[in-house]
Amino acid sequence: MKSFLLASGNAHKAEEFKELFHGTLAVTPAPRTLEVDETGKTFTENAFLKAQAYFETYKVPSLADDSGLVVEAMPDILGVQSARFAPELKEYKDKNEKLLGLLSTEANRKAYFVCVLCFYVSSEEYYFFEGRVHGSIGTQRKGTDGFGYDPIFVPDRSENDGKSLAELPEWKNSHSHRAKAVQAALGFFTRS
Ligand code: IMP
Repeated sequence: MKSFLLASGNAHKAEEFKELFHGTLAVTPAPRTLEVDETGKTFTENAFLKAQAYFETYKVPSLADDSGLVVEAMPDILGVQSARFAPELKEYKDKNEKLLGLLSTEANRKAYFVCVLCFYVSSEEYYFFEGRVHGSIGTQRKGTDGFGYDPIFVPDRSENDGKSLAELPEWKNSHSHRAKAVQAALGFFTRS
């Protein structure tokens, strides 16, 4: 089984990855979280910077993801800066309230989550996979599962019941941006 070191200190992500890769690729958490400056302008650049930093430190194939929420009406906030939105607020509950406030008079509430995975095998061999999930920003926080912006993100689904991602843990496991990027990667790695 191919093995990759997970270049992330985010325990929620690590847990989601563990489930998504179960029985296919061995993905192990890094012994220590590295401080990597995410100076890229795209999710792809930042995923690359993180995977490269872990590869160079630990000298083993590394997997990094960069993800975030893109809000169509406000392209300049969130996006690659999603983790750094409203740094004065520590809790995601408050960051979500702030975002709801900024969007309170906005008619266009379309948004999507993006995840780019970078599998860094060596300085001459690396691969990228991307997944997205489309939806909209709701009008209030709902649900207790998941993390980050899940409580205010309402995915587009055939059952249009207005549930947020934080109310749909099972659906998220197989339909999220991260799940789709992982499915694309598995298609590749289980063939090669
Ligand atoms: P990263 O760790 O630099 O990739 O930053 C990801 C940011 O996007 C964090 O602020 C997360 O809260 C947010 N984010 C990424 N994926 C998700 C998700 O699945 N649900 C909710 N928020 C997410």
